[in-house]
Amino acid sequence: MLIDGHGRIVNYLRVSVTERCNFRCQYCMPEKPFSWVPKENLLSFEELFLFIKVAIDEGVNKIRITGGEPLLRENLDSFVKMIHDYKPDIDLALTTNGYLLPQTAQKLKDAGLKRLNISLDSLKPEIAKQIAQKDVLEQVLKGIDKALEVGLGVKINMVPLKGINDNEILDVMNYCKERGIKIRFIEYMENRHAMDALKGMHGKEILTEVKKRHTIKALGREGASPSFNYKIEDGYEFGLIDPHKHDFCESCNRIRLTAEGNLIPCLYFDEALSIAKAVKDGNIKEATEVLATVLKNKPKENRWSMDDISQEDISARAFYETGG
Ligand code: SAM
Ligand code: SF4
Repeated sequence: MLIDGHGRIVNYLRVSVTERCNFRCQYCMPEKPFSWVPKENLLSFEELFLFIKVAIDEGVNKIRITGGEPLLRENLDSFVKMIHDYKPDIDLALTTNGYLLPQTAQKLKDAGLKRLNISLDSLKPEIAKQIAQKDVLEQVLKGIDKALEVGLGVKINMVPLKGINDNEILDVMNYCKERGIKIRFIEYMENRHAMDALKGMHGKEILTEVKKRHTIKALGREGASPSFNYKIEDGYEFGLIDPHKHDFCESCNRIRLTAEGNLIPCLYFDEALSIAKAVKDGNIKEATEVLATVLKNKPKENRWSMDDISQEDISARAFYETGG
């Protein structure tokens, strides 16, 4: 079992397979990064898998593949299959913007993927275009339909932004409810890579918006899930990911691996240790030691605070690199 320096059990690994993306979401990657990680610096699937095996053997039982946009990485289904075949009962999920799902969903399902989280910030073509800086909505909706059609579990992620999509919270929730899909509203996390002047809605404001049409009952956090769950009058459940809340980090069970092999203990902070050399050398002992050091040094909590965001509370971490 993996336990961090604050006594929390860590059983969840998020693996970013690329930092590249076909969208330029305002809250994540409004412009092209100054320099992409050169392709030759990316770990191969075999190298990433070597570390994943170490993590699974040490107690990780939940893996999420993410990015950048993970579906841009060629032959991703072969990577999914490697993980699935090693431990078929692992909770294996992927986060995607959905754009490439029409042509990839079936292959991913066949390879052993269980669940998808798909980002959907608006049902209005113009607003979706404004956020992603590309005309994406029609293709994303097709992607969601395809994922449901092939039998993948689907959840939707929405990041409500003031003055942009804050008036669509109820509509996107209703779209999900009609399809029997859970929606999770994510508080915008301030970071230095996002577009200036962007303002997110805090959890309380999101709930106030939902309450305009529904009565809601708090259910609580599902185990160590980042999502706090709520139920409305007809039993439909939705989630709120609220990293600005002081108790968010208490049950954090996550570590993150980037495509170039940096092992990151916390989404907020820049600190990371590389496992690249260890996996390139096939050195399992060294990879296990790096993992142990990262766990020992995992910060107690992030610095996104509830109230006014100071300069100190703006994370330098790029979401397209860590995968959120
Ligand atoms: N490209 C994929 C996607 O968009 O779903 C996967 C990577 S993306 C970084 C993972 C999740 O992080 C998405 O749901 C996205 O909405 C969320 N995200 C990105 N930047 C964020 C920010 N600044 N605050 C909150 N959520 C953010
Ligand atoms: Fe790309 Fe996802 Fe970031 Fe949007 S949130 S720019 S889709 S990585």
